Amino acid sequence: MKDIASGLSRFAPAGRTFHGSDRRAPLREGLRGCGEYGASQTAGRFYPIACVALEVTQRCNLDCTLCYLSDRAEMTYDPPLSVLFARLASIHSHYGPGVSVQLTGGDPTLRKVEDLEALCREINRLGMRSCLMTNGIRASRAFLTRLAAAGLNDVAFHVDMTQERAGFHSEADLNRVRRKYIARARGLGLRILINTTVFGENLAEIPALARFLRDQPEVAFVSFQMQADTGRGVLRERPDAITQASVMRAVEQGYATPLHFDAASVGHASCNRYTSVLTAGGRAVSVLSNRRLVPRVIAALERVDRNEDAHIPIRASVLSMAIRQPLLALRAAAHLVGCVMRLGSGLLRGRVRRQAVFIHNFMAADALEDDRCAACVFMVATAKGPLSMCAHNAQRDVHLTTPDRVDGPMGRHWWNAAVKDLSDRPDLPDLDDPNIAPIKRLKGQLRARRKNVKGTR
Ligand code: SF4
Repeated sequence: MKDIASGLSRFAPAGRTFHGSDRRAPLREGLRGCGEYGASQTAGRFYPIACVALEVTQRCNLDCTLCYLSDRAEMTYDPPLSVLFARLASIHSHYGPGVSVQLTGGDPTLRKVEDLEALCREINRLGMRSCLMTNGIRASRAFLTRLAAAGLNDVAFHVDMTQERAGFHSEADLNRVRRKYIARARGLGLRILINTTVFGENLAEIPALARFLRDQPEVAFVSFQMQADTGRGVLRERPDAITQASVMRAVEQGYATPLHFDAASVGHASCNRYTSVLTAGGRAVSVLSNRRLVPRVIAALERVDRNEDAHIPIRASVLSMAIRQPLLALRAAAHLVGCVMRLGSGLLRGRVRRQAVFIHNFMAADALEDDRCAACVFMVATAKGPLSMCAHNAQRDVHLTTPDRVDGPMGRHWWNAAVKDLSDRPDLPDLDDPNIAPIKRLKGQLRARRKNVKGTR
């Protein structure tokens, strides 16, 4: 792991509680500060954040070649539910109801299903959305059925060649796994998301993979995440061939249509590229093809928004916009009908579905850009409040060794990740201590290094 945490003190969590009156204001100001709050920007305008990760464990049943965890992460204990509930309260304080909470890790399915059920219920109670982010290995049909019954909204399966699953030699091979996972979640009322890391060894396969995903009618959201030099992964710098432009081109090639990734913005353009498509019977059409209409609809929706505090209820706002601006609503409706008609022969082969396509450009740990972190739409809940995911990953051990304060009916307690239970004192763990860092609990680069040192003795 790069020893860069000491140079990152400028990236501090936002505090456990939000003290302002407009929850969208911090993101809006962050985007304004870097010239990214234009007419096509949706972040900070309609929602205070895109999503917040709640890491429920640092354990994982894989050891990906581009893992964002730190070498020492798996030495730590899982946070007790009381700690996770306190972090959920902090997320709610900052972003209010409607925010998407990602139950993640490590792999969250290594926690007891009862713990995840309790978290789903609490997220529901707070009026937020929940998404299980998993490699899918332990997410059986029975497991997902229980979580869906507890109120889980979304499940995101991350599958790609960085995971080195035994017996799979290409992304095309891995489509068998993707199909199996989609089938497990089918009919449970969950929105299905599919995540893929784009790296040097699979870039050439992205068009074919994008085509495969386009043709999965149950998949509502597709995310391509570009290789980033952060965490314990043994692959490091991103190859020059992987750029936002090259990934957009590869995805467009797969969808076999222009996708207009620049029409609507979700946060900083260097971080995120987003588009929305209609699909049917092996064809796709971009919904954002009318570049003049998109900012007009965004402006009209903003004008009818009376709730500056959190997420705008989009259906009610569309209805309200239609009543106030019927001509614009008619133009938007005509555009949508045109998109459906352009699906052509696909309409004979399948139902029309909407799919969101996302390209995410995480930063390298030693090259964080301040303005992007200040305008981040993808946060992690820490002991001291939400923090940009890129900043968090660059200094994960600092956050893992920061104790959580838990105020409960039995008074004030502390939890730190090197100790199993709550305690009366906020003692800090020393993750370099070989007694709590035996080699079998290391992964990634540090384990590889220590193994090499042992081998040469
Ligand atoms: S996590 Fe990183 S790449 Fe993603 S939006 Fe935040 S700052 Fe940008």
